[in-house]
Amino acid sequence: MKLQNRLAFITGGGRSIGRAIALAFAREGANIAVAARTREQVDQVVGEVRNQFNVDAIAVECDVRNSESVRDAFAVAREKFGRGPDIVVNNAGIARTSLFVNTDEEFWVDHLDTNLGGTFRCTHAALPEMIERGWGRIINIASIAGKTGAPYVSAYAASKHGVLGLTRSLALEVAMQGITVNAICPGYVDTEMTSRGVENIVEKTGRSADDALKMLERMSPQNRLVTPEEVAALAVLLASEDGRGINGQAINVDGGTVVS
Ligand code: NDP
Repeated sequence: MKLQNRLAFITGGGRSIGRAIALAFAREGANIAVAARTREQVDQVVGEVRNQFNVDAIAVECDVRNSESVRDAFAVAREKFGRGPDIVVNNAGIARTSLFVNTDEEFWVDHLDTNLGGTFRCTHAALPEMIERGWGRIINIASIAGKTGAPYVSAYAASKHGVLGLTRSLALEVAMQGITVNAICPGYVDTEMTSRGVENIVEKTGRSADDALKMLERMSPQNRLVTPEEVAALAVLLASEDGRGINGQAINVDGGTVVS
């Protein structure tokens, strides 16, 4: 097993990509702290982890926009496991669309504060102990929107470009301390976030849901959505000892949508 005796703290772990990462890490022997705002969802994922794998897991309520909430969530995990996490997956995120002229400050701040601010807060909460221990993994779930622009997503894209800047800079700061910092940049993934995107296209354009979904699928040269499990498989590699040479990278899982 690749993550035996490791402790992973996964934000946005109550569904979709975060859930898939929690299950994939547990399959590799890691103990898991699952954090998000919706109590029932984190509880459910912890139940699945405990039922399927011989590891320990805890559900913590956490709003990554709020420093105190993040501090408390890490404290709860520390109390349970007697130590801070070896691996942090900054996956909690929101994505809504808006023309820039209609993007008000609340919308802007919500995206920046969740996607980028949350990554900052959770990394900050975990890093000192990783440095002390001389081992750590920070895995940021960014997006191909962190590398390219597109209409209607200026706030989301700005937040994800920010995540890549943080990833690359911090990776260089901690490179000599046994810690790696990387980002995963998925294309459209088959999750609730994408379903909400489909609903939005239907509402704004009058297309059928099937047509809207096909349009998103066609954005990939593979003409399909990525699965959460594909994102999780890369997260396992980055979290493992095998991945120790991969640092400061932003790796696309997008079927070739962005080729650079
Ligand atoms: P989902 O909407 O299905 O899940 C998002 C998760 O983040 C939920 O668990 C949600 O829980 C949590 N979350 C949202 N806001 C907060 C907050 N303030 N504090 C704590 N947790 C929060 O999205 P996906 O699984 O699809 O997305 C996961 C990540 O992957 C995001 O960062 C997203 O940007 C990125 N991504 C997704 C793509 C896609 O096509 N789906 C493509 C590229 C990147 P709750 O609401 O209960 O707090």
